[in-house]
Amino acid sequence: MLNAHSIRRRLLLAGTAGLATAAALPAAAKAANPSRPAESASLVEPDIDSCEEWNARPPSGSISILQTPPNKIIVHHTVSENTSDFSREQAHAHARWVQDLHMDDNGWSDTGYHFVNSRGGWITEGRHDSLATLTAGNGLVLGAHTSGQGQNYEAIGISNEGAYHDGAVPPDAQWETLVLMCAYVCVQYAIPATEIYGHMDFDATQCPGIFHEMLPQLRDEVATAIGG
Ligand SMILES: [Zn+2]
Repeated sequence: MLNAHSIRRRLLLAGTAGLATAAALPAAAKAANPSRPAESASLVEPDIDSCEEWNARPPSGSISILQTPPNKIIVHHTVSENTSDFSREQAHAHARWVQDLHMDDNGWSDTGYHFVNSRGGWITEGRHDSLATLTAGNGLVLGAHTSGQGQNYEAIGISNEGAYHDGAVPPDAQWETLVLMCAYVCVQYAIPATEIYGHMDFDATQCPGIFHEMLPQLRDEVATAIGG
């Protein structure tokens, strides 16, 4: 579906990570056509609203940037209301809700996740500097999303707005943007599409709910999006 949101996505130019040049196509179009040869794979860069754009609070402590790049993606859900408001404004309000929860209730210095994906498919930066390091494809902001097995030191944490441990399924817009975002992260950091996990793989938690059951599909669609 072509909407204002997808139009705003920008072509990720070939060369960033050695991808071949090709025409820009929405991620969903590529996923629907897995027979496309790898050499014609293309990828659009997701449009990510920075902390400044959603009016984040400043962090209460220093942000640590690790020089070792991430080796995996860990998917989460935020256990917020499964809203039917798919607007960008709702994505920003939700980002502020997550930050308040993590700073005021958990006592953390900032949002624990690196990125948050709204039910309407709007992506917001989580912890400050996550977007700059992703864009550079260099360095990992030390997050607070998966304490098990030291994964905060190794993994990019992407969380999805909503609660998915009780039978709910993600809206199409959210799923498509998750695929696109994971593909972009994989390209930027040279992470194989097989290295996408769920929070429950490392901690005793129900997070990320049904997204965990959908990980094989997510890995497949990301692999297709990045051309193999
Ligand atoms: Zn989680």
